[in-house]
Amino acid sequence: MHGIDRTRFWEKVDRSAGDGKCWPWQAATFEDGYGAFWERGRIRRAHRVALEMNLGRPLDRKEFALHSCDERACVNPAHLSVGDPQRNAADARRRGRLANGSDQLAFDRQRMIERRRAGASYKEVCKEFGVGRQWAYVIFKEAGLTASVPGRSQSAPRVNG
Ligand SMILES: [Zn+2]
Repeated sequence: MHGIDRTRFWEKVDRSAGDGKCWPWQAATFEDGYGAFWERGRIRRAHRVALEMNLGRPLDRKEFALHSCDERACVNPAHLSVGDPQRNAADARRRGRLANGSDQLAFDRQRMIERRRAGASYKEVCKEFGVGRQWAYVIFKEAGLTASVPGRSQSAPRVNG
């Protein structure tokens, strides 16, 4: 095996959670959250090193070390597999949608409500957030804001004004 110091590597890993669980890297990490491992004067991503040790060969530069657990600091080989760039990109997109889509929505909702409370009109809020009147109405109604709209019905969305 290409000279990886296994003892030094595993000293930096918390394996206390057990076999099937995440094994977080305890030493320095990159800014993006991946573990950093010094190997013969080079700084390397710890999860790639863990996968290489498990495979018994170095990873090709085009090969990605994919996490099945979304825990970037995790170096449990059971959570790591080799992927090609296409699969990696598809995975990242899928996870991004799942993880960030609902967060973004909740964030926008809250900001729409705040803008409305601050006195912005339906028209202004819809334009600002790129949403339709019906959607804005549903959000404001849930927030208890429709009753305070002067001259508007509480029971039905208005399409003008
Ligand atoms: Zn994991």
